Amino acid sequence: MGRTRACEAPAIGIDLGTTYSCVAVWQNNRVEIIVNEQGNRTTPSCVAFSDVQDCLIGDAAKNQIAMNSSNTVFDAKRLIGKRFHDATVQKDMKVWPFKIAEGICGKPKIEVSDKGVKKLFAAEDISAMVLTKMKEVANAYLNADVKSAVITVPAYFDDLQRQATKDAAAAAGLDVLRLLNEPTAAAIAYRLDQKATNRGRPINVLIFDLGGGTFDVSLVTINKGTFEVKAVGGDTHLGGEDFDNQMVKYFVEEFNRKEGKDITTNPRALGRLRVACEKAKRILSSTTFTSIEVDCLHDGVDFSSKITRAKFEELNMDYFNNCMETVQRCMKDAQWDNNMVNEVVLVGGSTRIPKVQQMLQEYFDGKNLCKTINPDEAVAYGAAVLAANMSGKGNKMVKSLVLLDVIPLSLGHELLGQFMRVVIPKNTPIPITKEVIGVTIEDNQPSFRFKVYQGERSRSTDNILIGEFVLRNLPLAPKGVTKANIRYDVDADGILKVSAEEPLTGQKNHITITKDKRRLSKEETDKMLQDAKRYKADDEDYRKKRNAYIALDYYVYNLKTKLNDDNIRQRLSQEDIKKMDDVVQEAKEWLKTNTLAEIEAIVNKKKELDSKRRHGARTSSSSGGRPKKVVTINID
Ligand code: ADP
Ligand code: MG
Repeated sequence: MGRTRACEAPAIGIDLGTTYSCVAVWQNNRVEIIVNEQGNRTTPSCVAFSDVQDCLIGDAAKNQIAMNSSNTVFDAKRLIGKRFHDATVQKDMKVWPFKIAEGICGKPKIEVSDKGVKKLFAAEDISAMVLTKMKEVANAYLNADVKSAVITVPAYFDDLQRQATKDAAAAAGLDVLRLLNEPTAAAIAYRLDQKATNRGRPINVLIFDLGGGTFDVSLVTINKGTFEVKAVGGDTHLGGEDFDNQMVKYFVEEFNRKEGKDITTNPRALGRLRVACEKAKRILSSTTFTSIEVDCLHDGVDFSSKITRAKFEELNMDYFNNCMETVQRCMKDAQWDNNMVNEVVLVGGSTRIPKVQQMLQEYFDGKNLCKTINPDEAVAYGAAVLAANMSGKGNKMVKSLVLLDVIPLSLGHELLGQFMRVVIPKNTPIPITKEVIGVTIEDNQPSFRFKVYQGERSRSTDNILIGEFVLRNLPLAPKGVTKANIRYDVDADGILKVSAEEPLTGQKNHITITKDKRRLSKEETDKMLQDAKRYKADDEDYRKKRNAYIALDYYVYNLKTKLNDDNIRQRLSQEDIKKMDDVVQEAKEWLKTNTLAEIEAIVNKKKELDSKRRHGARTSSSSGGRPKKVVTINID
């Protein structure tokens, strides 16, 4: 640490997992999974504090968990971006051996004793330590100082959870090139590995991710550079740890029965038994039988037993069945038939369990599962590919990857007459920045109110209001003179920022609208798109009507401006001026009460005004006294 390294470090890919993390890099024309100092390809997402030494991270922390459970923090990912009073936090707290306290603004804090001092850590502090560890693992392997990374997050992570993950990365000194959804990362890994083409047609992939504590199913369609997640399902509390627990329960019963003791009162013994069970579980993925031995487990009694793969499967059958039911539900949601799935990709360490593979294969009528990429490495693999792609590295295949994330619905704000001004049209790839100009619609207008909508309809009120803000203290000026520079920024994570600035005074304001606030269900998005199609003619009418209305509004305004012009007034009789002032006043009233007038009515009104304007000017010339020159008020 702190040493200057010889070469410039490439960007890395990090799978920041709930139970294990994995780091990978594109090097020597392929993705390399980076081993840690223990020679392991994945590292426990675990941080331990103690009274005597600096904190331990990774394998070292996990290895001492049974002896130091209240000071060994794991599962920080379950806590990240959450509030203390969230139901999931309250539930998880009950089973964690470490303490959670309520911090400022309802933030949950992990309470530990670090070298004898009580300390409170946020989840992102712990994640930052894990990320620092992964960075150091990469630094050592690459003999360089890694600066940037693509980091993966679950597809269901909301904006707060994503932001907190970014904060953790920043604290670890990592510049986040992109937060990438885990199933998309796995799909990228699959695509690269398979050189998937399907003769130019889209490929439907089912990503089955069974990790340490979570289970996620995602149906992804890969179409050239786009990875579209069609449906997701899963269980945030189902994974390898549950399988370990089932085994622990089984052996606790056996021990208590055999020895006539109660081991459940001894947390340290339970912890040591759990470590032995996880090891046995892994062995049972490659053999059908294993033994388990823990010296001096409880009350000086050694424990030694055996377990078969069949027994392990029996203990966990309910969980495995749950997994298959989720797959079924997900397929139904996306309206996919079994034969529409081109590939089933296994992700997560627990998919190494033969029974899980067998059940999944049977569900897809014997279809071969994609196992060419290690399931516990696929996510980091995909992240490393994207990291290479984003830093201009990699082979032709890597370079050809375009991660197209698009805006699902148009974004814009309301203009006069409840009209939706589209600033960023739907399907625009992100990130994107667009600027437009707005002008006042009244004389001496003191403020602009921006109502930001998403949707495809012409009338703003048929769309979805996603936020509003006001730009105040505008310089007072005639209508149309004061301007605002309006800027829409959508970043790579889909967060929209709308800002407005009045250039003369520098007055500014903005609003940030997260993806969550804009998120619609698939049904809602589909309905919006269908409505836009269905009411296309109506919307077109409305657009024309509104344009006619605006034209008339400007016509009246210009007429009024001209009438206020001294040069013109001098040339008109008092009587004419009065007549025209009345015409303008009456037209303004009409406009106010007819914002939704039909196009015909607007056209007629314009004709009527036109004739009054001409007539008024002419009659004045012939009305007694010295004839005045005919003056037509030209407003075009
Ligand atoms: P995460 O949930 O952090 O993404 P991983 O995908 O790395 O986790 O999966 C970790 C889980 O996989 C752990 O519960 C671990 O015990 C389990 N696991 C790892 N290897 C095997 C194996 N060979 N057989 C069964 N389970 C395994
Ligand atoms: Mg994972």
